[in-house]
Amino acid sequence: MTGEKKKKIIKTIKIDADKCNGCRACEMICSAFHAMPKYSSNNPARSRIRVVRQPLEDIYIPVYGGETAGAECAGRDKYVIDGKEYDECTFCRAPCPSRADFKEPDSGLPLKCDMCEGEDEPLCVKWCITDALTLEEREEEGEEEVAQEELEIGLASLAEKHGMQKILDAVARMSIARKG
Ligand code: SF4
Ligand code: SF4
Repeated sequence: MTGEKKKKIIKTIKIDADKCNGCRACEMICSAFHAMPKYSSNNPARSRIRVVRQPLEDIYIPVYGGETAGAECAGRDKYVIDGKEYDECTFCRAPCPSRADFKEPDSGLPLKCDMCEGEDEPLCVKWCITDALTLEEREEEGEEEVAQEELEIGLASLAEKHGMQKILDAVARMSIARKG
């Protein structure tokens, strides 16, 4: 039933960009934790956090992968804050058709931060030695949401790219190959 109120835990990672030194340890641990099997490999291009680094402007800003954007925005934003000019779409969290950020380099599947499901504390927070990342949790009352599973998000993205029939054919071929 929709419209039902439910208590939920809101997790927030507070990012103190002034403390970030651009070491990218957060990208390393995130990609290692999400490797299959866990910690078997490590590739920052597969990380669900990316550190925007513009050293000449002294800019180091961690940004987390969020919900997938099905289409590009009609226009892009570009910020100038305290005299520093940030690249286009710097603060956007979406895996988006306009760029490679937050997408698996091989398949283009979206990479969304899952707050390190199953861990006591997000690993990027644990590994950030400068304390640029800190976790905050609070309880809030809100509408019950239908959680979209990671598998479903990935399939929807592939279906958009290749068409549903191709996905069904590929799954059928894979299942025959496994049985055979
Ligand atoms: S680990 Fe911390 S200091 Fe290093 S890049 Fe990530 S947020 Fe910045
Ligand atoms: S919370 Fe976990 S999944 Fe999210 S960016 Fe940090 S290490 Fe990656």
